[in-house]
Amino acid sequence: MLKYSSIIVGILAFFAASAHASPPGVVISQQVDVNNYKHYHQDLLYTYTGQSRGLAGAQHDLARDNIKNEFMSFGLSVALEPFVYVATTYHNVVATQPGTDNPTQTVVIGAHFDSVNCPGSDDNATGTAMVMELARILSQHRSSKRLRFVAFDREEQGRRGSIAYVAAHGADNTVMAVTADMVGHDSGAYGMDLYSKATSSAVTNGVASAITTYGNGLASFTNFGNFSFSDHWSFENVGIPAVVIIERCYTCNTNYHTVNDKTDFSPTYINYNMIADLTRSVAGYLVDTVPLSLWGDKDNDGDVDDTDFTEFRNCFGNPAAPSCYAFDKNMSGTIDCTDWPAFKAAHLTSQGRIPLLTPDDFANVILQIDTTPSKVCVCDLNTDTILDGLDVQAYVAAATAP
Ligand SMILES: [Zn+2]
Repeated sequence: MLKYSSIIVGILAFFAASAHASPPGVVISQQVDVNNYKHYHQDLLYTYTGQSRGLAGAQHDLARDNIKNEFMSFGLSVALEPFVYVATTYHNVVATQPGTDNPTQTVVIGAHFDSVNCPGSDDNATGTAMVMELARILSQHRSSKRLRFVAFDREEQGRRGSIAYVAAHGADNTVMAVTADMVGHDSGAYGMDLYSKATSSAVTNGVASAITTYGNGLASFTNFGNFSFSDHWSFENVGIPAVVIIERCYTCNTNYHTVNDKTDFSPTYINYNMIADLTRSVAGYLVDTVPLSLWGDKDNDGDVDDTDFTEFRNCFGNPAAPSCYAFDKNMSGTIDCTDWPAFKAAHLTSQGRIPLLTPDDFANVILQIDTTPSKVCVCDLNTDTILDGLDVQAYVAAATAP
């Protein structure tokens, strides 16, 4: 039986983001693309004059379906989860990324997509677009735990969607929830308030620390207490640690819950650089905490190189033991030739060249002197499952490339 103190130390270590940027944290957080974010916020969520994702909003369902389609385009499994409010059925959009090491533990990244009867540019298309950008990036990488990216509905009518979500996902073993609500208007502090109960402090302090580490000068302010004004509360209410991230002094935003909460209010109403800094921070926090890593990066040093190539071949042909999960991108349960194209591509992205055996080794395989399955596989450079002159050409080209 573990001593109580070591359990506490373990839990704090699990939640607290490292004070120092980790190599995968840097690589993955830097994949945040502000132009991509703008596309979601401006083109897919209807945040302009006259538009609405409110109760009777003409763009509500259109926005919901855009979110669903975008999540699907990332290769995630997506569900529209129904719930009833005032005799009407609404839906949370739930996108799931499976975990590898701890597939039965779940981390929720969420934001409400509905608005009051207004464009809801800040409240809460900014949080929703952030969840979409995080899903785009994190879905490309290996997550230790299951991730659920959730666009909640009907928050403005009392967190109806997140309450329904929590009730429907009781068996998920959700270990934490990170939510965002109004993160786009800068009232001068260039910072974020983080609200949660004291019992969620490890998550809240972890996010605050990640903002310091990855936020490029973004400030953070932690607030502990019983704050029931957003979706994090639906999780905290059932004992799940959760935090809500919100722009510093959101009540300073005089457009809040008015028809002026719109992207075309002014060119500076929404501060996209501030949101990008926040999105990088949350990405860094999740990478360091869940954790996530680059597929193919066995030693987790933030790149996929020849050291990983050697490990790929060592794992080849074996059931995907935890030490080899880094190579089982198709999650088939075995490291084999079907994993080679993904590893080759990851190495190319990381190193600017494909991984190559030594010339002698390559020749021995081509001449069928060496029939080691892992070597035969990685000599199929054009991944057409045939070893021939085309692979020799590819080898020569790669080996002689400047
Ligand atoms: Zn809101």
